[in-house]
Amino acid sequence: MIAEQPVLSLLKKHFGYDSFKPNQEAIINDILNKKDILAIMPTGGGKSLCFQLPALMFDGTAIVISPLIALMKDQVDALKANGIKAAFYNSSQDTTVQNDILSQLANGALDLFYVAPESLANLSPYFNNLNINLIAVDEAHCISSWGHDFRPAYTQLGYLKSQFPQTPLVAFTATADKATQADIRTQLNIPNAPVHLASFDRKNLYLEVRPGTNRLKQILKFIGSRPEESGIVYCLSRKSTESLASKINASGIEAKAYHAGLSAEARNSIQEDFINDRVPIIVATIAFGMGIDKSNVRWVIHYNMPKNIEGYYQEIGRSGRDGLAAHNILFYSYADVVQLRKFAEGSSNETYQIAKLERMQQFAEALSCRRIALLNYFGEQLTENCGNCDICKAPPKYFDGTVLTKKVCSA
Ligand code: ADP
Ligand code: MG
Repeated sequence: MIAEQPVLSLLKKHFGYDSFKPNQEAIINDILNKKDILAIMPTGGGKSLCFQLPALMFDGTAIVISPLIALMKDQVDALKANGIKAAFYNSSQDTTVQNDILSQLANGALDLFYVAPESLANLSPYFNNLNINLIAVDEAHCISSWGHDFRPAYTQLGYLKSQFPQTPLVAFTATADKATQADIRTQLNIPNAPVHLASFDRKNLYLEVRPGTNRLKQILKFIGSRPEESGIVYCLSRKSTESLASKINASGIEAKAYHAGLSAEARNSIQEDFINDRVPIIVATIAFGMGIDKSNVRWVIHYNMPKNIEGYYQEIGRSGRDGLAAHNILFYSYADVVQLRKFAEGSSNETYQIAKLERMQQFAEALSCRRIALLNYFGEQLTENCGNCDICKAPPKYFDGTVLTKKVCSA
């Protein structure tokens, strides 16, 4: 280990940062002490740096397993721009490029070697004579066959711990409930690895649930009272994104529909318009949002209930990234529950999907602090009511639950 320089000066030197984000330091310390770990940190929490910095502090090369070609490329480009020796390897490259990278790897010329899980098994002989200092599994939830991003090749990674018993094996993800956490550790053969669970709390997000009656009227009133603000309305179907967008337009406010049925060009141009504040409101299916980095989204409305809490959390998480107040409204109707149940029925993991849906429904129906319930789902205990949700603002003793139930049942 090259430890002449303290971690903080390396952080500054290689990445230009003066301080760590929450949890980074504790995670990096564990890795530097050669521990296997599982870290769960929200999107944008700075997971990459947690394995990149230790990789630079150890002699040898770190292997980073990453599921998406685009993600690999972005990270490698960013590392190279910081003067770090990194390369990626996957099936989209031609043989000449692949061979070039493999010879760099063989010569020990790389600090970080990014690889797709599918390509990894074939490369295993190349690793034998190398000094592999760290193995990082990014987006580790892909290992769980129940999850939405399941990648079969991730389940083949168990041999890594036996091939490199002395090398820290570290797994990172933004979404893993208790069962997925156990799955990740078991399958990677790191059953006793400590779990670092970073806070998922976003205090600036106001959380509100409303009965799903008169949604259009409520939405028009809400956005009418917030001119100039950027926001996203999520709907369940492509058709409803179109019809809601045109109703919003008819009321004199500009909005665009976005869904996977549009051409790639149309989707790109809508995204660009939104990011550059040319269109304030997007009415979208869940196809919208991944990888969109817009800091000033002031509100997110769920026209329909999401199918699980992970999705809900991810979607509201797109608001208020600048840390300023953002308002999130979830419209809850029993009709949505029925519809979502229909979607889940007959799918290969029906029981699991329905269990997740029921947790979502419980969240929407609960008459206690929303944030406590939300964080509890991710395994985090909040000891006090948050003061920034509809329930905290109007506690249930002043709240007529029967009215809500009636409204919900008749929606
Ligand atoms: P994640 O993988 O957890 O979603 P990333 O690793 O992509 O997050 O990091 C998100 C952003 O945070 C990146 O722009 C990264 O450069 C930045 N970042 C990471 N660590 C720090 C830090 N210590 N200080 C400031 N910014 C950081
Ligand atoms: Mg990441």
